Amino acid sequence: MYEGVNASEGIGIGTVVVAVEPDLSFDPHAVEDVDAEKARYQAALDVFCEKTNAQAERMKVTVGENEAEIMSGHIMLAQDPGLVDGINSAIDGGMCAEQALVETSTMFENMFLSMDDEMFRLRASDIADIRTGILAELLGREVVDLSALPAGSIIVVHDLTPSMTATIDKENVAGIVTEVGGRTSHSAIIARALEIPAVLSVSNACGALHNGMTAIVDGINGHVLSEPDEETLADYKERAEAFAAEKRALDAFRGKPTVTADGDKKVLACNIGNPEDAKGAVDHDCEAIGLFRSEFLFMDAKELPSEEEQFDAYRSVATTLKGAPVIIRTLDVGGDKEIPYMNLQKEENPFMGYRAVRYCLDNPDEYKVQLRALLRASAFGDIKIMVPLVTCVEELRQVKALVEECKDELRTEGYKFNEDIEVGIMMETAAAANIADILAEEAAFFSIGTNDLTGYTMASDRGNDKVAYLYSWYYPAVLRAIKNIIVNGVKQGIMVGMCGEAAADPLLTPLLLSWGMEEFSVSAPSVLKTRKAISQWTKADADVLEEKVMQLKTAEEVKAALEEAAR
Ligand code: PEP
Ligand code: MG
Repeated sequence: MYEGVNASEGIGIGTVVVAVEPDLSFDPHAVEDVDAEKARYQAALDVFCEKTNAQAERMKVTVGENEAEIMSGHIMLAQDPGLVDGINSAIDGGMCAEQALVETSTMFENMFLSMDDEMFRLRASDIADIRTGILAELLGREVVDLSALPAGSIIVVHDLTPSMTATIDKENVAGIVTEVGGRTSHSAIIARALEIPAVLSVSNACGALHNGMTAIVDGINGHVLSEPDEETLADYKERAEAFAAEKRALDAFRGKPTVTADGDKKVLACNIGNPEDAKGAVDHDCEAIGLFRSEFLFMDAKELPSEEEQFDAYRSVATTLKGAPVIIRTLDVGGDKEIPYMNLQKEENPFMGYRAVRYCLDNPDEYKVQLRALLRASAFGDIKIMVPLVTCVEELRQVKALVEECKDELRTEGYKFNEDIEVGIMMETAAAANIADILAEEAAFFSIGTNDLTGYTMASDRGNDKVAYLYSWYYPAVLRAIKNIIVNGVKQGIMVGMCGEAAADPLLTPLLLSWGMEEFSVSAPSVLKTRKAISQWTKADADVLEEKVMQLKTAEEVKAALEEAAR
């Protein structure tokens, strides 16, 4: 058995096809007619862009709009003036077009690789993909074509680039195995969109797996098995059928309202990190956005994004959601979220330090840029403002005062915005949980951030192996904190939701329903699963279980009781 990264769920059983990458070797040579060489490069670039554009158009239909944008991004990157000028000046220096392309693009690739950021690593692999495409054009060679594979193929390839993925006929591909790439690589994103089981980063996959072998791709656990015996094959066929059955069962919840077994309507929202995610969330059938982590806009930039840039991003999400609620959390910088250009000082204890709303209130001019952008975008949909890491009512009051200041400015400047925009709180500190009654009087809504609330309540850093066992929302301390927040919010008549990972834990669903929580905000792939969990409980049944569970004293007992109830 080979181990790798489980990049796309499902189990694929089929016959190995090792995709051999084309021989793109060439003889570097000096050129004299530099203009002719530049024209040769331009011609190859034009053909590359034309083909890539055709692939993007095809992908819009076969995979999806978002994934097709990866290919459109390749065209922009290939035509980037920095890259094109670099190549032309290398040719001016006497290099042949092939060498000029390889040297210049490798320089850009290495630059992106040296940056410690997932986004830039993606850019580096895009550059490598573009280089292969243009080089193949210059040399007149074919890149890997996966469009005519026999049915039941398991593609084994060093790196599945977006341009290769664009040619895949999903009907014929049972699984994908690569030697490189992680869960967030473009190949992983596309494999998930195509719903093809994929295991990435299997070392030496191309050497170990051969054409014609039978293989099993277990995209759930990240395992690849070659030439399985009868028993293993039968076992995986059963697992594949169970996975398919579970998927079909979940599909029954697509397009349906989110209701409890006794017909109480709830809201299923999604958590997103950028405007593109909003489209994916809608495709996954969400009814609202329960958390837009706006810090990703800041992390993906080289300097503080301007009011205009932020406005564009927020408006885009509001428009994609067509009037459905969109909760946007204001900048949650600090802790584990570093933004290099903001030059925040290293702290002894960053999770308890200068971060989130504390930083924002200390830098009101910067904060107002974001608040103005949010207000302006509120003219295009139902945008709500959420304040992270609140520990006292003073913080909420100060933010609301700044929002009022921004409103005055925008009114004078003639901008439209929602005068009644809601300002709510991300309930994620032990302090906020303890004063939920006080906060509920002044907040428009609560959204429970269990990722941090669990850590702060249990004083446990989940990244620290030695204390990670304490990081669990099944501890009575965390459950009481959650209950206090929901019950006080409901009593005050404000909307209470949850956007931490616990919202997607089906074991917790009955407790949250018993306490009266309204909105469940989860990652896009968890939408249907959560809708199903909600549909299985009546208020009366949930109340009985709650009564029993809240008397238990240990996390182990709580989990066991919830598991038994779920069965
Ligand atoms: C949380 O703390 O639960 C949360 C949703 O926010 P983040 O994970 O971004 O801290
Ligand atoms: Mg948080």
